[in-house]
Amino acid sequence: MKTQEQIEQWVRPNIRRLKPYSSARNEFSGEASVWLDANESPFNEPYNRYPDPLQWAVKHRLAKQRGVCPDQIFLGVGSDEAIDLLYRIFCEPGKSNAIAFTPTYGMYRVCADINGVEYREVPLQADFSLPVEALLRVADRESRLLFLCSPNNPTGNAFPEADIERLLTDFDGIVVIDEAYIDFSSHPSWLARLNEFPNLVVLQTFSKAWGSAGVRLGMAFASPLLIGYYNKVKYPYNISGPVQRYALDLLDRADEVCRWVEETLAERSRFVERLSTLPLVRRVYPSEANFVLVRVEDATALYNWLVEVGIVVRNRSSVTLCDDCLRITIGKADEMDSLWEALCRYNQNREK
Ligand SMILES: *Cc1c(COP(=O)(O)O)cnc(C)c1O
Repeated sequence: MKTQEQIEQWVRPNIRRLKPYSSARNEFSGEASVWLDANESPFNEPYNRYPDPLQWAVKHRLAKQRGVCPDQIFLGVGSDEAIDLLYRIFCEPGKSNAIAFTPTYGMYRVCADINGVEYREVPLQADFSLPVEALLRVADRESRLLFLCSPNNPTGNAFPEADIERLLTDFDGIVVIDEAYIDFSSHPSWLARLNEFPNLVVLQTFSKAWGSAGVRLGMAFASPLLIGYYNKVKYPYNISGPVQRYALDLLDRADEVCRWVEETLAERSRFVERLSTLPLVRRVYPSEANFVLVRVEDATALYNWLVEVGIVVRNRSSVTLCDDCLRITIGKADEMDSLWEALCRYNQNREK
């Protein structure tokens, strides 16, 4: 098991030394009836006030729901902020490196490039299983971050607990498990084991199952020490007041979110079953997410034809291991019916 001292060692020296910005709301956060400390306007309530920089109300609510402590949570402007800040906390530009398998979510590489950090990628095995040994082999003393997206985008599979545990134990750096699609998966979340691994960061988001991509709210869960560094480097008021109020309201509607997930899973099964009867479909990959990866005959031709009839899917045919693959998000029943009708029409034209 890694120690707190090791985690501290991996933090960039300038960040370890950093004295963070101290806002008015940091210095006094108790109760008062007259607020004259932050040069806010007294007009236009409630938008006139700066929000809670550490979003404690949301974190307490979320902590109770996910079975963690409030000081194990960072809230970001989407998971994208949580990813970028990990580079800023742990990676020295031009010196450190980050590791991930490919294909996976594109932001890990983009953030590496923005931060001037070398990004090392290892292809998944042909059956999309995790190349555990190869990931460990490309690691060296300057490796700081290892990204594991599970369930993975765009392949849709989740990785076995034993493989991930091996990486958590044997990789000498921070292991980031991106659980953007965990609500659609039959695998359990790593949140249950957060306390066992000081080098573990679990990312989740409100953008997928929680139906709130437009709001931009993501979460990182980790040890209080690591969350302390997140708080040190983030913009003081990264999550706006309206978004904090929205999140509190949404967290009270968890039952409704459960129904959305169930409906999506039912649509996923119905779509997968239909797809496998279509001659132009070569392979439907098993999915633990709200999308399916499908290998077809000439993906680009089909993609273009779908666009012409007003249906947009994601063409992944230029991605490693995804030749002739489309990634199709699961929508509502009527949307999936429209897509199905279009696919049948395409198939008929093709047979003519
Ligand atoms: C969609 C997605 C996210 C979500 O990012 P946000 O910035 O929270 O919207 C994160 N990770 C993966 C792998 C995704 O596919």
